[in-house]
Amino acid sequence: MAATRTIELRTEVPGPRSREILARKQRVVADALTVSLPVVIEEARGATFTDVDGNTFLDFSGGVGCLAVGHSHPRVVAAIEEQARRFTHTDFTVVPYEVYVALAERLCALAPFSGPAKAAFFNAGTEAVENAIKLSRAYTKRPAVIAFEGAFHGRTLLSLSLTSKTHPYKAGLGPFAPEVYRVPFANDYRGPDPRTALEALERALVTQVAAETVAAIVLEPIQGEGGFVVAPRDFMAGVRRICDDNGIVLVVDEVQTGFGRTGRMFAIEHYPVEPDIVVTAKSIAAGLPLSGVLGRAEVMDAASDSAIGGTYVGNPVAQAAALAVLDVIEEEGLLERAVGLGEAIRARMVGWQERFEQIGDVRGLGAMLAIELVHDRSTKDPAPELASAVVQHAAENGLLLLTAGIYSNCIRVLVPLVIGDAELDEALEVWEHALEHALRA
Ligand code: PLP
Repeated sequence: MAATRTIELRTEVPGPRSREILARKQRVVADALTVSLPVVIEEARGATFTDVDGNTFLDFSGGVGCLAVGHSHPRVVAAIEEQARRFTHTDFTVVPYEVYVALAERLCALAPFSGPAKAAFFNAGTEAVENAIKLSRAYTKRPAVIAFEGAFHGRTLLSLSLTSKTHPYKAGLGPFAPEVYRVPFANDYRGPDPRTALEALERALVTQVAAETVAAIVLEPIQGEGGFVVAPRDFMAGVRRICDDNGIVLVVDEVQTGFGRTGRMFAIEHYPVEPDIVVTAKSIAAGLPLSGVLGRAEVMDAASDSAIGGTYVGNPVAQAAALAVLDVIEEEGLLERAVGLGEAIRARMVGWQERFEQIGDVRGLGAMLAIELVHDRSTKDPAPELASAVVQHAAENGLLLLTAGIYSNCIRVLVPLVIGDAELDEALEVWEHALEHALRA
């Protein structure tokens, strides 16, 4: 292995102090909040974090995709401190503040709409998804929503109803919201192909739900939790056509894909398609709770007075962080960096695929990349236990990786885009050793 420069492990992983805190957690924190890497963080910077035992890790999880600009970027920290000193909360609809308006102006200028656009801010991704549906319903005066197999849109009732993974997210938690219909997502690796998927969508308008009752079709340009399944271009164009033909609002969920990860500010910019609504969260404010719905002005203006909102929505400290995030993305060239990182990581992954039979697929856009592990390339039988073994070995050697996929058999990259070249090499070496360890066993 190359000489370690960033990763530094002073104790076994997890160390004694982490174990002690997690034993306390066990007694007082609800069991459902399971921890994927059992080390307790002390501090973080860029693409690294250090735990309470003094071990330093490289972080390919980026707070599950919230940290395009990295942990505790100095400009983001300064913006947070400055705003927190001035005021932390009013409720924008009671006492409004400029930072809300400034962020709306900036994002509407960046968002992929050719005509007038407007914004509304919330806290979490799930809340933004639900509000996008409310706005679509208000605009169309229709009830139904179509979502896709493999989708993840959140864990509150309506968005959990849109989410498409039974375990661990939905099992035992119904009944779910009504008027949600599900169709297959085109998938270049496992199928269906775009034509078949579009035929299924058209058929659903005959067999499941009348087109004139559908308010919105919701999709992720790259399914995130679903395993980094990239929507094929023809599929995306076909969904747009079906929306146009039937007066349906096209809602693009960019909670995981947005803010530079794919090499564009929004992943939908890779497609010859203009959405009606873009849902954002995660990297928008470097981990502070903030989400945003951006949309065509006439859709955004459709809901009546106070029909959307909430006490905390559009928190000024989070919004100050978001303005700093946009500055960092622009001034540090993070879109170009995502492209470069993507090329470097993909080249390594393709090399791994040549060496290891169990890597069935390498896919993604820009730096949003994943490998999919299978027992057999011809049957594509998913191998979640191999994915877990790789992640476990990498963690024990200082690299935090995350799985994904409806079968939990993918390993994804959500690395902070500010990672340095030497750190990237080091992380990929650890990943490669983990593959050798877990796949050759
Ligand atoms: N939509 C997508 C595409 C996501 O990846 C997620 C979270 O992973 C959500 C929505 C929900 O966001 P949150 O966890 O902030 O509610």
